[in-house]
Amino acid sequence: MENINSGKKSSDIKVCKIGKKCGGCRYQGMSYEEQLGIKQKEVKKLLSPFGDVEKIIGMYHPYHYRNKVHAVFGRKKNGEIISGIYEANTHRIVPVEECLIEDEKCQAIIRSIRGLLRSFKIKTYDEDTGYGLLRHVLVRRGFKTGEIMVVLVLSSPILPSKNNFVKALLKEHPEISTVILNVNDKNTTMVLGERNIKLYGKGFITDKLCGMNFRLSPDSFYQVNPLQTEKLYNIAMEYAGLKGNEKFEKKPVVTDAYCGIGTIGLVASKYAEKVIGVELNADAVKDAIINARENKRDNIKFYQGDAGEFMEAMAEKGEHVDVLFMDPPRAGSDEKFLLSAAKLSPETIVYISCNPETLARDLKSLRKKGYEVKKIQPVDMFPWTEHTECVVKLELKH
Ligand code: SAH
Repeated sequence: MENINSGKKSSDIKVCKIGKKCGGCRYQGMSYEEQLGIKQKEVKKLLSPFGDVEKIIGMYHPYHYRNKVHAVFGRKKNGEIISGIYEANTHRIVPVEECLIEDEKCQAIIRSIRGLLRSFKIKTYDEDTGYGLLRHVLVRRGFKTGEIMVVLVLSSPILPSKNNFVKALLKEHPEISTVILNVNDKNTTMVLGERNIKLYGKGFITDKLCGMNFRLSPDSFYQVNPLQTEKLYNIAMEYAGLKGNEKFEKKPVVTDAYCGIGTIGLVASKYAEKVIGVELNADAVKDAIINARENKRDNIKFYQGDAGEFMEAMAEKGEHVDVLFMDPPRAGSDEKFLLSAAKLSPETIVYISCNPETLARDLKSLRKKGYEVKKIQPVDMFPWTEHTECVVKLELKH
């Protein structure tokens, strides 16, 4: 298996000036090798009771990997407009000029918007008084397609001289594909409000992962590190016996649980007889259905609901599943899900996890229910942070 480390020495490390205040990158000041070493050790500690842990897959260039950049806007006491992030556990804004993990193009667009606010005399929103217009800016870039979405989060649906504002922004960044005005008029810590108004372009962008197209709306979930996501999904397909080491005599029946916008299920659908995806978030399910249509996949269906309840209903109906992908949130899965998964008795389970602790808990439960852990592969999706992703292959014991 491909294994990439950056080869950088400690002396080459770029240091972030606001690292401490931001708190996002806990591994600031460490070499990338050191970070990978810590992650490997942590995963080993938690998962070696289940089997050998493969060497973590890192990035060649562990910088500017985030395809989504969010900035909160405000003012200093002297009136100067600032944009950045909230200081850890507070609502004080730490100005961000550059960030080592965010996409540089997205950051440049945010800087331009800050400049334009001055020339267009647009006020930033003040959380305490509720006065002012611009609250946040969200920029997403499809790394494969180059398409860029800019979301201006305002406290009102009216942006004065909006056409000229958009024109001025596009003049500085002609590569922007779509500009959206999101209305957030509530006193809330949520970034996005419910209403989106298209100011320019289609209102969404498309990106490609593993050769498939995915539509991204302002609020749909999408992995933030697409380069590592492709590596992760390729391993998941290989562990499932779908690609590289095809183990099924005829095309298998696949379930994609906690499927988000359907990425894993859609990639798997190329090799499967049929795929069923289940996801709690209704908007993500809508995107998943559109993604299936756009990619001309007619062997995949998506359902909205709790994955545990859905699996229980499938088990009761005695449905047949060969491969189960499960990619739950940090809290992991639950007993209802794991019990029904075991009842459905798929030959292979591929568990993708962003939290090795809950992964260890769930693997213990699956082992008791007759599954054997065959492979454990950590992947570094979030360099400079303490988070580690893992893919685990489990097989039914006969
Ligand atoms: N597999 C996707 C998304 C993984 S993130 C991808 O790779 O992009 C985890 C997903 O689980 C989120 O989309 C979240 O909305 C969903 N989720 C959380 N709790 C759930 C539950 N009880 N039942 C089904 N889906 C759930």
